[in-house]
Amino acid sequence: MALNLRAATSLAAPPAHLRPRRRATSVSVVRATVSPPPALDSRRRPQNVSGDFFVDHRCIDCATCRWMAPEVFKRVDGQSAVAAQPTSEETRTKALQALLSCPTSSIHTDKPAQDMLQVQNTFPLPIDDDLPGVYLCGYHSENSYGATSYLILHPEGNIMVDSPRYTPKLANQLEKLGGVRYMFLTHIDDVADHRKWAERLKCERIIHSGDVEDITADVEWKLTGNGPWNIGTDFELIHTPGHTKGSVCLLYKPLKALFTGDHVAKTEESDDLNLFLMYSKQSVGVQLDSIRKLLVIDFEWFLPGHGYRIRYEDVHAKNSAIEALLADHIN
Ligand SMILES: [Zn+2]
Repeated sequence: MALNLRAATSLAAPPAHLRPRRRATSVSVVRATVSPPPALDSRRRPQNVSGDFFVDHRCIDCATCRWMAPEVFKRVDGQSAVAAQPTSEETRTKALQALLSCPTSSIHTDKPAQDMLQVQNTFPLPIDDDLPGVYLCGYHSENSYGATSYLILHPEGNIMVDSPRYTPKLANQLEKLGGVRYMFLTHIDDVADHRKWAERLKCERIIHSGDVEDITADVEWKLTGNGPWNIGTDFELIHTPGHTKGSVCLLYKPLKALFTGDHVAKTEESDDLNLFLMYSKQSVGVQLDSIRKLLVIDFEWFLPGHGYRIRYEDVHAKNSAIEALLADHIN
């Protein structure tokens, strides 16, 4: 049983009439001039450096804060911790964006952040100058283990890739950008608050029939067969079963960007591609066949649901990385 220190130290003092009387004394009392240090917030992991920002014990190690604000957050003993307090306006903004995106609300500040409203207005977040119109939605959901959701602005209707945590503040921001026409769900794990978003944004959701379960039964568009399927001329949907039966990647052709869901990504520790086979719901063979499909597709960016984004120099570099991954699993 865990020791309850709080109970042990909160015994009530006896009533005044039962307390021993103090004797008068002539010893002069020296007043303390140094105030005691403020009590540490019990939620604070001891692995955090001292200072305003800290991560609590409920962190699920999804790594979101570590790639959003790598200057501030690091992995220590299997969870995130503040490794360096922000020292510039830019890093503070990134740390607050990570705070808002944390799926378990595990990031805190000792002092109320007066600039929080301003930071809320920065969402969705642009990703890269070479990915114009592609944004991170932030507000990751614990229901999808902190999966990343993206927004693609497009003249024929904006597309949201996977579902963030439902937040009216983000909904307002998305509406200012023209709303969302389609919510493309890469697979069953990352659907989070799709119903609330569909209700608010009146978007049409898309998922593969292989990943239709009770929670996705009301999705408007259910893809059948092996595809590929198209949304207009700029987007292609590629069936990549393995992680789940209905896993589908979305290719944004003009930007050579592939939104991979949990099919493939890069880990924190290495620049190599990783299949996260321990989470695959189908066989390794099925997943490897789906990886082979990507060899004939013209893209350079991997934008995953979990883990780190990768950009290869060109399609040949992308193919070399895929071939190295295949070789690792075949040998
Ligand atoms: Zn998944």
